Amino acid sequence: MKKERVVIIGSGPAGLTAALYTARAQLAPVVIAGPQLGGQVAITHEIENYPGFPDGLTGPELVERMKEHSENFGAKYEFDLVESVDFSNGSPFRIKTYGEEYLADAVIVTIGADPRKLGVPGEEEYIGAGVSYCGTCDGFFFRGKDIVVVGGGDSALEEGIFLTRFATSVNIIHRRDELRAGVQLQQRAFNNEKISFTWNAVVEEIIGGDGGVNAVRLKDTVTGEETIHPTEGVFIFIGHDPNNAVFGDQIALNENGYIITDQRYRTNVDGVFAAGEIQDEIWRQVATSVGQGTSAAMAAIQWLEAHEETLQELEAAPV
Ligand code: NAP
Repeated sequence: MKKERVVIIGSGPAGLTAALYTARAQLAPVVIAGPQLGGQVAITHEIENYPGFPDGLTGPELVERMKEHSENFGAKYEFDLVESVDFSNGSPFRIKTYGEEYLADAVIVTIGADPRKLGVPGEEEYIGAGVSYCGTCDGFFFRGKDIVVVGGGDSALEEGIFLTRFATSVNIIHRRDELRAGVQLQQRAFNNEKISFTWNAVVEEIIGGDGGVNAVRLKDTVTGEETIHPTEGVFIFIGHDPNNAVFGDQIALNENGYIITDQRYRTNVDGVFAAGEIQDEIWRQVATSVGQGTSAAMAAIQWLEAHEETLQELEAAPV
């Protein structure tokens, strides 16, 4: 079993930033990075809204730079998955991965959330070539195009409205005839002349060719009738699934499954912090995750300083 000061679970922008800050505080953090560095960012083909990079850069490039930056100060990366955690006895916390077991004085959880997929033919195939889960990231590439948005919640409407800055038309496809989104957003969408709605419809297939997406096959949820709807882009906003499975009931989650934190990014477990999309179900930006990762790391550093004596006593005590 490896004894560490700080273990960071997850290697998206929040985790990579927490690694940098805790490494600069001489804590030699270990990042359990998962199978792929960067999480969702690793599949983002171009990031144009991260400050300091006026020419944009790819997701993989940004996360590689962040990793290298933190490694320069002593962060260590393990490309492994967490199998289970045991927070029941307080600090030090037990974290079991498939290849190792760790005891950590403090833990920063930055394991993220995954956009929910439709699970239809063509979806995986055209990710980055017409299928997207992020209007802020990809909207710019759909200038002058006719696109569809799938979903009827706040995200679908907010992103749909945002996408009208670029697209010629945005058709929102919803599986019912009533939106889940708040009334104000609904009004803004109804008043936007670029937005139209297809009610009671689900996407059965995303159809494309060499150049990317060119249509969706829709099924009417009331009549069962199938139609082909031409489109050059499919933006899917049907919710996110926070990656909370590994924590079971050991950490407090809100009703949507996101870790509850306070302003200092503390969870209900003393010594366990959380940052990024595992605790933020609204903003989901690289820049916001970086800020949250910074705050969580600073809070963890302060917490470790305040508990130094107790932790040393625990370490000296017979197991
Ligand atoms: P959400 O509220 O869960 O809405 C998901 C939408 O996708 C629903 O309309 C749902 O349909 C639809 N859907 C789910 N699975 C589907 C499937 N397999 N096929 C087709 N449609 C499907 O998710 P969200 O919009 O991402 O919002 C998440 C949370 O963040 C919410 O609490 C929201 O209020 C909040 N948020 C707030 C703001 C804001 O205040 N500005 C902005 C964004 C998000 P049904 O309606 O039929 O279930």
